[in-house]
This record gives sequence, C-alpha cells and structure tokens, in this order.
Amino acid sequence: MADRIDLKVGFACNNHCHFCVQGDKRLKWGAKPVAELRQVLEEGRPAADGLVFTGGEPTLRRDLPDLIAYARELGYKTIQIQSNGRMFAHKGYCKLVIERGANEFSPALHGHLAALHDYLVAAPGAWSQTVQGIRNLKSLGQYVLTNSVITKSNFRHLPELARLLTALGVDQFQFAFVHPTGTAGKEFSAVVPRMAMAAPYLMQALRLGQGAGRRVTTEAVPYCILPGYEDCVVEKYIPRTAVFDAECIIADYTKYRHEEGKAKGPDCRHCKFDVDCEGPWREYPERFGWEEFRPVHRAAAAKKARSAAR
Ligand code: SF4
Repeated sequence: MADRIDLKVGFACNNHCHFCVQGDKRLKWGAKPVAELRQVLEEGRPAADGLVFTGGEPTLRRDLPDLIAYARELGYKTIQIQSNGRMFAHKGYCKLVIERGANEFSPALHGHLAALHDYLVAAPGAWSQTVQGIRNLKSLGQYVLTNSVITKSNFRHLPELARLLTALGVDQFQFAFVHPTGTAGKEFSAVVPRMAMAAPYLMQALRLGQGAGRRVTTEAVPYCILPGYEDCVVEKYIPRTAVFDAECIIADYTKYRHEEGKAKGPDCRHCKFDVDCEGPWREYPERFGWEEFRPVHRAAAAKKARSAAR
C-alpha cells in the first residue's frame, strides 16, 4: 500500500511545454470523471496520508476545490497541488483552495526571466503569472516547493533561477533533469542537454539554495554527477507512491523507476552508490551512452569529502 497518492485529474493544460512528459495525452484523454476520482480518494485513504493533485494542469478543473474538500473530509493530512502555478496568480483562488484544505503547493518555474520560461512552456505571460502565484502563496503563509526542469535552454541559468527562488521565499526547490519521453522525447535534440555540462551550474544552484537555508533537491541526476551534493538526490526521500495515470495505475512508483523508467550502466556495479542509485532516465544513455557516469570508488569519495571539509 502506498503512503502517497499522485492523482492525475485530467490532461488539459494551458501551457505547452517543450519538455512535457505527458506528450499528446491531452488530445486523447479528457478530464477524469469525478466519480472515478472520488473512488480513488476513498480507496487510497486507509493507507495514504499524502495526496498530490496533478495532471495535466489540475487547477483547470472547476471542481478541484470540491475534490480538495472531499480529500480533507477523508482525512488526508498533506494535500498538495502540483501545478504550472498560473492560477495562483489569482489570490482569491489561492484563498479558496487553502480554505478547502490544500496545504502544500508545487508550482513549476523554469527560468529566471520571463522570456526563458515563456519560451520553454510555450505560453506568453506564463512566467509573470507563476511568479505572482508564488508571491501570493507565500503571502498567505503557505509551504511552497517548486520544480524546475533542467533543459538545454536553461541549464546555464540555474544559479540565477536559484537566486530568484530564494528571493521569492520558496521553501524548497527541486531541479529535475528532463525526462526524454512524450514531447521531450520527440524534441530530444533541442531539449536534452549533456548532464556533465549541466552539472557545474546545477551544483552552483544547489550551493546557493543551501547557503540561503533552503531545502534543495535534484531528480534523475545520479550521485556520480554531483560529488559533494549526494544528499540532494531526491530519490532516496520519495515516499512509497501510487500514481493514477491516464491509462494505468502504477502501484509502486519506486519499483517502476527501478525496473522500467531508469537504467544502470555496465560499470555501475563497481560504484559505491550502486545499491541506492536509480541511474538516469533510460532514454538518456540510449542516446548518449554511459561515458559520463563514472563509478565512484570508496577511497575517492572519502578523499573528496575530506577536501570538501577543509
Ligand atoms: S551507480 Fe552508476 S549511475 Fe549511479 S552514481 Fe554510480 S556510476 Fe553513477
């Protein structure tokens, strides 16, 4: 049984991200019937304390506040809205979903400048709305954890993005390496950077976040890419999660990542992180090979930790 439920309530979205993993699901799948969603909420609650409303863009559903209220009634303790953040620009809407029971907010911001973010999400004006949304949520005392996808267009600007997130008062931020499936798979060459090239910028952004006292994490970036920042690898903190997707239910998302989503290389068995590491999304080495992923040996890791401590 899962500790958390990720419930995709529909696949419509007002952004058109170049890195979207959902691809053309919005064309095939509409909003899920409310009866189906209520049934998932009821059946999941005995085991799960945590719930994430996601999609597509969940705030496009007019009945989202009612679903949140129902989840609260059922006793879910953490109710998160994972969103592109644009609806949060309306403070009245923020107040409504908070009053119904939402208590964690995960808006997505992918650039420090409007031009960069709006290009990546293919929606003019989106950056201003998402940034205003974060401001509104923080002014209402909410816990905000952002997600930013690392792409070819923004990886050099991750430190500036970290500075902006810190200035906005974001409590926790995550940098997720683009998953090359869906639209990101179709646009692979334009969207997916080499991980080793992104790593220095990513580590600088993590350092800035840590220096400001924020919780900072990465997703889909193996330990060997992040020497000194191994504690930022989010996979070891993700709770047991069931994902209610469009066409399937992933009962155990951790198992799915290990067995289908991610891949390990031929030399990984020599690495000190082999047991904990999930490796990159499998599509990455299928295109680029394994040369960037060098096993970390115990002695080398200890030496690095010693010199970092000096
Ligand atoms: S197990 Fe493989 S991918 Fe993971 S950190 Fe080690 S070398 Fe890198």
